[in-house]
Amino acid sequence: MKPFVFVNLAMSADGKLSTTERRQVKISGKSDFLRVDEIKAGSDAIMVGIGTVIADDPSLTVKSAELKKERIGRGCEENPVRIVIDSEGRTPENAEILHKGPGRRIIAVSEKASDKNLERLSPYADIIVAGKERVDLGGVMEALSDIDVKRVMVEGGGSLIWSLFEEDLVDEFYTCVGNIIIGGQNSPTPADGTGFIMEDDFTRLELIDMEKADEGVLLRWRVKR
Ligand code: NAP
Repeated sequence: MKPFVFVNLAMSADGKLSTTERRQVKISGKSDFLRVDEIKAGSDAIMVGIGTVIADDPSLTVKSAELKKERIGRGCEENPVRIVIDSEGRTPENAEILHKGPGRRIIAVSEKASDKNLERLSPYADIIVAGKERVDLGGVMEALSDIDVKRVMVEGGGSLIWSLFEEDLVDEFYTCVGNIIIGGQNSPTPADGTGFIMEDDFTRLELIDMEKADEGVLLRWRVKR
């Protein structure tokens, strides 16, 4: 069975994930930081696209000592399995995600990835090959289900999230809307890619809840099927 997949992100009040230069910005406040750490600790795996690895160099580790302890008490690793969607295997060897904190890493590549890149990355991460040109995300979900990953948190960015919506792989979508305007027609948004053309294809959402979060608002949506 496909893992439960939820997207979590922070966007500005005008719906941007970062600047036109793709520079990481602080969008949400302290209480959202704690919430994100909790939902991360409650996940089996956390996924990002290679664009996010290159732009932000995130470690995707659980930060709270208590939450790490809780995970270990449940018989899990300190951190969820960290997954990078990376067709060509471009992840830099010194990326934080490959080095910070214990836990399994997976780089999901397509058949386009060179042997040289696979050799370069294999000391740090397990490799899943899915898809010819780009990574076949449905195939990755199947592979994750085979290793007992039941709950996947997706942290971005906009290109990966778009593909997950396009392929109907998202179950829930959480956005923390911060009190800033970033602007820029080329700034990343929560779902970039080509976009749906036909109204019938739009992903339809049902609002689960909303709450004030620091100076912004947290919205939680479920995908209607
Ligand atoms: P991304 O979504 O992280 O990664 C996209 C890349 O993944 C693609 O260019 C493609 O590169 C690879 N990929 C492989 N198979 C794919 C598939 N089936 N579908 C989609 N992508 C696939 O990159 P991004 O859109 O450039 O987003 C990065 C930006 O988002 C940064 O500015 C970052 O700061 C921001 N961000 C913000 C938040 C937030 O919460 N505010 C969170 C995360 C990221 P290859 O073809 O080379 O593999």
